Formats: sequence, structure tokens, C-alpha cells
Amino acid sequence: MIAPMPGVDGGCLCGAIRYRVEFPTIWFAHCHCSMCRRAHGAAFVSYCGVPEAQFRIETGADMLVRYDSSPTAWRQFCRRCGSTLTFAGERWPGEVHVVVANLNGPLDREPAAHCYYDAKVPWVDAADHLPRLGGPTGTQPL
Ligand SMILES: [Zn+2]
Ligand SMILES: [Zn+2]
Repeated sequence: MIAPMPGVDGGCLCGAIRYRVEFPTIWFAHCHCSMCRRAHGAAFVSYCGVPEAQFRIETGADMLVRYDSSPTAWRQFCRRCGSTLTFAGERWPGEVHVVVANLNGPLDREPAAHCYYDAKVPWVDAADHLPRLGGPTGTQPL
């Protein structure tokens, strides 16, 4: 028997969709942009980036819905329970952004930054000391 690759499993709220992220991830950051906030109904969304080959849907692929949130980016969610699971876009070729809150265990790294922090909601402030990034790309020092 071959030992499983180090990584972490994840899934949607109803359990129909299960997937696996294999380590190493590329990055881990929080996004405060208005599109992520709206897609998730949350003050901000935490993602890790992984190469496409290291993200695998194990069950429920038929339950995944793709929504093109812009001409160059798309998001996937469960059509039964609505859990938002991934983001991908032409700006990050070959990469999947996986919603960290839906993973079942720890990642291989800590969060590194707040992106689009200048677009954040006024009623939540980050209490950590991570860099606050923003501007047109969402990743420039503020
Ligand atoms: Zn579901
Ligand atoms: Zn965002």
C-alpha cells in the first residue's frame, strides 16, 4: 500500500462534495474584496493557493456548479448546500484557490497577508499583525 501524500481533506456543508489538497500549498491569505465577500456572505474569505494537479475532487463532482464571477474568473460551489469551495482565474494560471474554512485539518503554512484590505467592511478589523495589502491588484502595500 502506498502512503497517502501529505495534505488535507475538505468538503461542503451537506457532505456531497469531498476533495483533497496535497501539500505543499503556494500561499495562504485573506481576501476582503467585495466579490469574495458577496459570494460567501462573509466579512472576508481565507484561501490557500495550490497547483491544479494538487487539488482533487474525490466525491460529488456532479454537484459542483461553476459560476463565472467575471469574464476572467470563476468560482465553484455545491448546488445542494451552497458551500463555496474554490476560486480560479486567468490572473493565476494553473492554480486553484481553495477556501480554507472548508478544510478538515491544518494547512502546511500560516496566513501571510490581508488582500484588498482597502475594500474591507467597516465593521470588522483584523486583530493580527499581517501586512495589509490593497490597491488595484489587491496585493500592493497600503
Ligand atoms: Zn453540499
Ligand atoms: Zn476576493
